[in-house]
Amino acid sequence: MSYWRRLSRAQKLWLICTLIVCAALVASGLAWSGGRKAQPALTFDTGMSMQELAPQLGVTGKALARELGLPLNAPKKIPMAELDVEAEQLEHVVHHLLGHRDSALKYYIFGALVLFGLVYLARLGRPDGSPPAERRTWYPRAPYVIALLVALCVCGFALGKSPNPMESVVKVPKALLGLYPTVYGKVVAFAFFIALSVVGNKLICGWACPFGAAQELLYSLPILRNVKRRKAPFAVSNSIRGALFIVVLLLLFGVVGGRKGFVVYHFVNPFNLFNFDFESATVILMIVAALLTSAAVYRPFCQFVCPFGFVSWIVEPISLVRVRIDQDRCTRCGACVAACPLQAAKGRVERKALPADCFSCGRCLNTCPVDAISYSPIWTRAKGAETPVKGPG
Ligand code: SF4
Ligand code: SF4
Repeated sequence: MSYWRRLSRAQKLWLICTLIVCAALVASGLAWSGGRKAQPALTFDTGMSMQELAPQLGVTGKALARELGLPLNAPKKIPMAELDVEAEQLEHVVHHLLGHRDSALKYYIFGALVLFGLVYLARLGRPDGSPPAERRTWYPRAPYVIALLVALCVCGFALGKSPNPMESVVKVPKALLGLYPTVYGKVVAFAFFIALSVVGNKLICGWACPFGAAQELLYSLPILRNVKRRKAPFAVSNSIRGALFIVVLLLLFGVVGGRKGFVVYHFVNPFNLFNFDFESATVILMIVAALLTSAAVYRPFCQFVCPFGFVSWIVEPISLVRVRIDQDRCTRCGACVAACPLQAAKGRVERKALPADCFSCGRCLNTCPVDAISYSPIWTRAKGAETPVKGPG
C-alpha cells in the first residue's frame, strides 16, 4: 500500500493502463482459444498406419517413427503392428506428442507478463522523484514474485509445457528436417519469443518462462547466501550451453552419430514437469538437479543448458529496453556487481562487448549510490535521477 501511495499520478496511470492492457490480452487469448473448434477425442490403435495417425498428433510420419524408436524412413503406410509397435508403447508416444500441442492462450499470457515486467522495470519500480538515498525502497519484490507465480502456475502447471521458449528453438530445425507438417508455424513461434526477448532484454526468460520462474523462485529463498556469492564464470557456462547446442544440431541433422532426427534435449527437457510427463530417468534427473541446484546457483538450467538462453543471449545487444549504466556517473564501486546473481552487471560496468546474460531480474536497480544504473530504452540517455547526485547516499 505504501508503494502505491509513493507513486506519482503519472505512474499510477501507467500501472492502471498496463493492468488493463494485460487483462485485455488475457481476455483476447481466452476468447480466441475458446472460439477454436474443440479437438475431437483421439482414437488410435496399432492397426493404424503412421500416415493415418501422425496428422492427428500435429506431426509428420517421420516424427512419429522417431518417437516410436523406428528409423525415419520406416514404411508409413502399413499398420504399425506390422512394425512391431506395441499398444502400450503407442499409447505412451501419443500421450507425449499430445503434450506438445500448443496452448494458444499461453502466447497471450506470455505477452502480458512481458509487458508488465517491462513497464514495472522501466517506469514503475522507482517512485518518480525518489532520491538515491531511498533506493532500498525501490523495486519492491512483490510484483516480481507475483509475476513469477503466474508464470509457474498458469503458463506451467495449468496450461502445460507447450509452447515454451526452449522448445521454440528446437522445433525450427526439427521442422526443417520434416518432423512437422510446416516450417512456417515453428518459425513464427520462435520469432515471437525472440521478439519478446528483444523488446525488453530477455524479459520472456526473466518474467514469463515457467521453468525459469521455478528456478528464480527457488534461488530467491533466503538460504545458502554464502554459496550464492560465488558465480559461475560466464565463459564456462556459456561455452557449455553453446557447445551443447551445436552438438544437438549436428546429431539432429545426422552430421554425426548417424541417427538423423535424434534430439538430445528430448532427454533433458525439464518442461515435461508441467505435463507430469516423466518419460525417461534423465528427464527426472534434470528436473531434480536443476531445481535443487537453484537454491544455490542462479538458474542453472538457463545458464548451462537451455538453447533459448543461448540464442537470446546472442540477440541481447539489439534489445531495446535493458539495464544500462551511465558511465559518466559510475564510480566502479561494485554495488550492482555484488547484487547481480550473474556476471551480467560486471560485464556492463566494464563495458564488455558481449557481457553475460541479463535476465532483467531487477536486483541491481536499487543498489547504485550515485544513481548510475537504470532500466531504460536505448534511445534515451542512460541515467537514473533527474537531478545530479553529489556523492554516495
Ligand atoms: S533460458 Fe531459462 S528462462 Fe529462458 S527459456 Fe530457457 S529455461 Fe526458460
Ligand atoms: S541484477 Fe544482473 S541479471 Fe538482474 S537485472 Fe541486474 S544486471 Fe540483469
